[in-house]
Amino acid sequence: MASKMNILKGDTVLIRRGKEKGKRGTVKAVMPDAGMATVEGLNLVKRHMKGGQQNGSSNAATQAGGIIEKEAPLPVSVLMYVCEKCKTPARIRHGRTADGHAQRLCAKCGAPARESAKGA
Ligand SMILES: [Zn+2]
Repeated sequence: MASKMNILKGDTVLIRRGKEKGKRGTVKAVMPDAGMATVEGLNLVKRHMKGGQQNGSSNAATQAGGIIEKEAPLPVSVLMYVCEKCKTPARIRHGRTADGHAQRLCAKCGAPARESAKGA
């Protein structure tokens, strides 16, 4: 079954599996080719940063390196769309607007989901 990306950047999602199971977050980025998405503040991995990358910077002390936390991509199959209106994890229904373009709808309450951000 070909999976269509139902999750878009900016959506609220529920994590269905893994260590972040049951948590909700906002989709930060989607990678449709990989079928992956990052969710803000979830599935963080620690990255060690090397200092001294900033050339000509006088505040090198603040660039001394350290550990930053970064969202690791999650497979979209573990993400469930959460409707902004009814606040319930719901399946996406595909409908059409009056002027004929495709629209995502909440399968529970029928509220239209956000439009995909143009150019995102
Ligand atoms: Zn809804």
